[in-house]
Amino acid sequence: MRLLIMGPQGVGKGTQAALLAEHYGIPAISTGDIFRANIKGKTELGLKVIAYTDKGELVPDELTNSIVKDRLAQDDTKNGWILDGYPRNAAQVEALDAMLEELGTPLDAVVALDADHDVLMARIAKRAEEQGRTDDTPDAIAKRLATYAKETAPLLDTYKSRGQLVAIDGVGEIDAIQKNIVEALDAR
Ligand code: AMP
Repeated sequence: MRLLIMGPQGVGKGTQAALLAEHYGIPAISTGDIFRANIKGKTELGLKVIAYTDKGELVPDELTNSIVKDRLAQDDTKNGWILDGYPRNAAQVEALDAMLEELGTPLDAVVALDADHDVLMARIAKRAEEQGRTDDTPDAIAKRLATYAKETAPLLDTYKSRGQLVAIDGVGEIDAIQKNIVEALDAR
């Protein structure tokens, strides 16, 4: 199973991606987690991206595309994967298309989660308190939501026109949302 999970910050992508990974026995690959691990480890990549992530801006495409390409070439991706937080703009969709074409591994579906603005803001505030992410400042949050609306949300239409979109309500109990996603995927 090869999946993307998409939706605005705070909608629960990471939580649902982890549950889907467990359900299908595939790795959940989060570009945000990869960047955060590199920032924490003060790697060369981490030092390059911190200026973008802290401001809530997208990391340049060349860097992001190349970490995804490397990750998808690893052995644990043989049975599939779920990508969380990538692609985030039209150029990344093109880059992913090219990678999958080269690997001969087409995408199965794109899970799109959505929730009202107020629900998202409340969840982001809660996460900021619990996890203390350095990009959960009011300015960075506003920037990330605006970038999502401008650059990422339009990608849902791209995947819809390809017949790959599975839209799921992101409001409710975690387990119930997970069940809805799995049922919708298995019904395809
Ligand atoms: P996330 O955890 O997905 O919210 O990602 C945290 C931050 O990492 C984002 O605000 C961006 O700065 C960066 N990032 C994650 N994924 C991408 C991506 N696909 N393209 C560009 N930047 C990204």
